[in-house]
Amino acid sequence: MSAPRIAVGGVVRTWEGADRTGVNVAYVQSVLAAGGVPIVLSPLLGPSYAARALDGVDGLLLTGGEDIDPAWYGATPSPHLSPPSRERDLFELALFAAARHRELPILGICRGIQLVNVALGGTLYQDLPTERPGPVAHDPGQARDARSHAIELEPGSRAAAALGGTSFTVNSFHHQAVNRLGGGLVASGWSLDGLIEAAEAPAEAPWLLAVQWHPEEMHAEARAPERGLFRALVAEATRVGEQSRATSPRVGAGSDPASWTSGTAADHSPR
Ligand code: MN
Repeated sequence: MSAPRIAVGGVVRTWEGADRTGVNVAYVQSVLAAGGVPIVLSPLLGPSYAARALDGVDGLLLTGGEDIDPAWYGATPSPHLSPPSRERDLFELALFAAARHRELPILGICRGIQLVNVALGGTLYQDLPTERPGPVAHDPGQARDARSHAIELEPGSRAAAALGGTSFTVNSFHHQAVNRLGGGLVASGWSLDGLIEAAEAPAEAPWLLAVQWHPEEMHAEARAPERGLFRALVAEATRVGEQSRATSPRVGAGSDPASWTSGTAADHSPR
């Protein structure tokens, strides 16, 4: 089996005087270390090319970044909201819908768990310190790879299987989080203040797992349990890719009905 292709949702940033598009090195290294071929997809592609961009791809990684526009879940913006990117929201909602339609495995990280939750009809805390103050610091201002708070995972969950245990200390830098869970998701990990830190699709559904912390930052640590999340994505992408190549011709251009104009994403016009 050749290495599976994993689409990685990218960002647009201004750096040294130029607008650029790409993604953090840590995500690319994490997919590579797990045996996948990362394919970085720029949000500049826009929602109309999201499905086309997934042709020949076996799995999807939704990455961290901007706050999600609360309009997608019918909330008024908090004064503590960081500027959302409508461009990125639109692109990733379309990517998620297309990947779900094709039953590709999906791993969401930080913003990724929030995007998945909102796409499935859930809501977010826009700003934890003002909306849900508690004893756990979710943005303690430490190094990106500094493990700072405990989490507990549901025994038997996809999260516990991928990480190889149920109790971990994870890095954390987020001020938004899952509030009401979206349809078809089950919570599978919590910090000690009861905040959802992992959510997933049930075992009978296509592989979908999302976490609120940043496992990609541990890519240089050979024995880090976090690397199991990327191995699980790549293993499932390998299995799904082989299965689809064995049973049907490859999905080609224009043959995919999932797009921004149909499917679940259409339910999420700004309100
Ligand atoms: Mn946290």
